[in-house]
Order: sequence, then structure tokens, then C-alpha cells
Amino acid sequence: MTLALAQPIEPEDINTQKEYIDYSKKVHSYSPAINQLLDLANNYVPGAEKAFKEGRPAVWCNANNYQPVLLYSLGVTPVSYGEMGRYSAKEDMLIAEDVYQFPVETCSMVKCTVAQWHKRLNSGTINRILGNCSSCEPFNLSWEVMRKHGYDVFTNEVIYRGPTVTGERLDQLVKFTMEQMLDVAEWLTGRREVDPEKLKIEIARKNRLLGKLRKILDLRLTHPFYMKSLAIILTLNVGLNNYFGQPTKYEAAIDELIAELEKAPVNEKDLKTVIPLVWAGGTGQEFGVYEAIDLAGGALLGLRSVPFRFYREDLPPLEAIARWVYDNSNAGAGVYAREVLNFEVEKLKAKGVILYGYIGCSFASVDREMWRRFFHEKGLPCINLEGSFQTGSPTGQVLTRVKAFVEMLAA
Ligand code: SF4
Repeated sequence: MTLALAQPIEPEDINTQKEYIDYSKKVHSYSPAINQLLDLANNYVPGAEKAFKEGRPAVWCNANNYQPVLLYSLGVTPVSYGEMGRYSAKEDMLIAEDVYQFPVETCSMVKCTVAQWHKRLNSGTINRILGNCSSCEPFNLSWEVMRKHGYDVFTNEVIYRGPTVTGERLDQLVKFTMEQMLDVAEWLTGRREVDPEKLKIEIARKNRLLGKLRKILDLRLTHPFYMKSLAIILTLNVGLNNYFGQPTKYEAAIDELIAELEKAPVNEKDLKTVIPLVWAGGTGQEFGVYEAIDLAGGALLGLRSVPFRFYREDLPPLEAIARWVYDNSNAGAGVYAREVLNFEVEKLKAKGVILYGYIGCSFASVDREMWRRFFHEKGLPCINLEGSFQTGSPTGQVLTRVKAFVEMLAA
């Protein structure tokens, strides 16, 4: 079965993300489920802003980790400011630099996000920002700046569990985080309380979807090219966190995808030629990088954000969320994410690891360097890429390196 039904485009020619999502829909024309997921991804921010104007509460936040579970239980849509920021082009970077005096070398993700918030000032759209101080210093600065310019901003304290923290010390962290979640509830609703029954419903939903995504990842092992790189990244890195603002539609599309994958015939040639890769980055915004991987015969079968642990349903729900935070790869130290990556590498017998981050991010580049060294010592090839967050085609240098890396693994 030949899956690529659309004419390939050159990665260098991919300038806007909308363009590439439209192209990806054609590539996946055999899959209504993947088309629905790409539509949900595309409509996430504009759809949430429209719903907000029609009266549905919403807040800008990183829309991952514990936030969506808590926010949906409070009747508030979590809207990812990272997804909003990806509408920015190179010119938007100048807004952050010229209007807000961000130094040129500041990470492009932060500058793009600030520019989008700037463009929305006094426009009647979502005007609340839930910051998370675990992110990074430039982001901490960004919401302080936005507070001064009229946004209603609330920030949580840092979530960080050192690798040796267990027992009573961990219990203290859990209690502290539960208090923080009540602070968020109070800020959003005026009441310092959560409804345990609604939280249980959201935890059950999240666990169901974590299980379904695990199933999809397992089915991809025998159908490695059914879902191309961009589609899986958006479905897992964004959709599984926040459901693109549409929990019911997201779950329906996931169910349909499982049904499609279960019915799809296995292509033995694909299984012989596939180059299994692990993607150890966030949602890279230079979509041409994904096309370069696909064209070179790579398949992103393992990701840093694979569903690793379920929420415990035997605990009071607020405590279950706080414990999940500290038991997962976002608990702070880079070693937790490395465990997930290593698990994926071994499960897939991956041939290589792609580390991807943004220029100007000293924070994540340290983690990436540690992971690169770890995998090199195991004899596994890694490539460490730095790209930009704003729209536009990837640089020739990034594309050349990606192609050369995947082709080297194929050889
Ligand atoms: S890429 Fe790095 S500097 Fe930029 S927002 Fe993320 S953590 Fe912060």
C-alpha cells in the first residue's frame, strides 16, 4: 500500500505552518481520523478565542502537566500560549525587541508569544495568563511584562523534585502543590475549592486517553508510516495534553484512529525499511524539519512525551494530580525525561535520537547535552538541532543535518 498520495513538497518551500498542515491533510487523505486531528490542531487557538467571545471562560497557559485536568474541572478552557505563539513570523520578533526591550538573544519562543499577546491587547479576547514559574526566566519575565500592560496574570511557584527527594520531603512538595492548585481555582472562580467529582471525571478522561495513546503508539510499530511526523507530534505533544480545547472531539478522533490502524494492512516492506527514531524535543515549529525526516525514510515512533504514568484513582483527586506531577518526566530534573527517552529507545530498538530545541534556550540546551552524552555512551547516534520558533522555512543548515543524519542511519 502506498500511503503518500500527495506530491511531496521540498522542506525548504514550507513557509507557513498552515501550508504544511494543509499539505499533511492531503498526505493523510486515506485517514479521516488524522484529518480530524489536524483540523483540531489548526482550530485550537482561533476556536478557543471564538468560544471565549461567545462566553466560554478560557485562560492562556502552558496547557500541559496538571493544568488541563484542573482547568477543565473548573469549566475553563486551557489555551496553550505556545500554540498561539506559533502564529508569529520574523517581524513579530521585533515587537518583543522594540516595544518590550527583550534582548535580541532571548529565546524566540518567548519573543513570539509576547508579540502575539501584544497584538491581542484590548481586543476583547482571552485576557488572563496562568504562568508557571517552572518554565524559564525569559518566560517569567514575559508575564511580568504582560501584567504591566493589562493582562490578568497569575503564576505558580516552581515545581521541582530533585532526583533523591522521596518520603516526607516528597509529601511536603505534594501538599504544597495541592495548595497551589487551590490558589489557581480561587483566582479563576473566586472560590478556594475544587469539585472532587468533576476532578475525578477529568482524571478518568485523562487516564482513558493515556491508555488510548499508548495503544496508538503500539499500533504504529506495525504501521510506522501511517501517521507522519507532524501528525503524531501534534496529537501527542499538544492534543494529549489539552485536547486542543475540544475534549469530546479529540477523544472521538483518537477512537477512530485506533479503529483505522487496527484495520490497516501491515506492509512488510515498510517494516524492513523503516528507521525508528526517538524525538527528544518539544513541538518544533519549523515544520519543514518533519518533512525532511519523512522524506528520508525516518519515523518518529518514540517521543519524549509518551504517556508514561497513569493518574492514581485510589487517592483523593487533588492529591492524585499533585503526585502525578512529581512522578512524571516534568518533575524537574532532566534525569526524569531521560528515563522516558531511554525507555522508548529500548522499546523501539531505535536507530537514533533527534534532540531539538530553540536558539537562545540555555535552559533546555543543558538537558539536551546531558542526554546526548548519555546516548552516545550507549553507542546510539544522536543529533542536536537548534531551530527557531517563528514561522518560516527551516534554515538550510538544519535541513541538511536532518537529512544527512537519517540517511546515515539508513546506510
Ligand atoms: S525554549 Fe527554553 S528559553 Fe525558550 S521558552 Fe522554552 S525553556 Fe524558555
